[in-house]
Amino acid sequence: MIIYLDGKYVPEEEAKVSVFDHGLLYGDGVFEGIRAYNGRVFRLDEHLARLYDSAKTIDLAVPITKEEMAEAIKETLRKNNLRDAYIRPIVTRGKGDLGLDPRKCKVPTVIVIAVTWGAMYGDLYEKGLRALCVSVRRTPPESMPPNVKSLNYLNNILAKIEANYHGMDEAIFFDTQGHVAEGSGDNIFVVKNGELITPPTLNNLRGVTRLVTLEIAASMGLTVVERNLGYFDLYAADEVFVTGTAAEIGPIREIDGRVIGNGKPGPITRQLMAAYKAVTQKEGTPIYG
Ligand code: PMP
Repeated sequence: MIIYLDGKYVPEEEAKVSVFDHGLLYGDGVFEGIRAYNGRVFRLDEHLARLYDSAKTIDLAVPITKEEMAEAIKETLRKNNLRDAYIRPIVTRGKGDLGLDPRKCKVPTVIVIAVTWGAMYGDLYEKGLRALCVSVRRTPPESMPPNVKSLNYLNNILAKIEANYHGMDEAIFFDTQGHVAEGSGDNIFVVKNGELITPPTLNNLRGVTRLVTLEIAASMGLTVVERNLGYFDLYAADEVFVTGTAAEIGPIREIDGRVIGNGKPGPITRQLMAAYKAVTQKEGTPIYG
């Protein structure tokens, strides 16, 4: 496997980062999760925009331009002969000392990893996922904006651990106000009486897949509403699904023991899943030529 590291393409064994890197010491950095389908990088510009906006929010100057980052991503895919892949660009604060002060970190570390990664939830796209509304709350925007895709994913990992202990496939986060926020690594949608409803994007990550899903839904003539949701909306929903680059569109069949709809992926979810698959197969930035 070839990794992009600070301007060089190196074998995985040589892709080493300092133990004084603040990305490791403090989760001080940002990243993206991108997929390539059929020889094209899906929604590359949107992911790069979020990466650079996240970096700006934490006052981290990415040492390469967006165009150079796009090239690094495509070249990493080419060097690994990949046409379908999951891509992980990372920018950390870089090497500093054991203190917190980011001014000690002179040069950010830039990494691009690209791997083969098929359907994240395997047969659950057919069966549906079981989800748990976890007790840990999504980090409030007053503390750390969830719109920043930072390397500090402990909030998300705590949610995942709680879901794991209960044998559930995914966690559903609420925010500190009691509104549904998102999944541990994906956004959430509810279908009720033919309407598609998703929470606004202050207390969650502004998902690229969420946006694509909203576009597809609008083109299918569905009514789309962005408003806050509570437990009632989840339990009483006709359909619930999550969206994310890694997860794609994942139908949820059960939440906290309540069966959603008839306990199988619903008709609107299925239509959106099929349409999403079609869009990802035909759109994107070409990797080769
Ligand atoms: N929320 C969180 C917390 C995530 O980690 C992700 C995955 N990046 C998403 C939502 C979905 O975002 P996207 O559709 O851009 O992958």
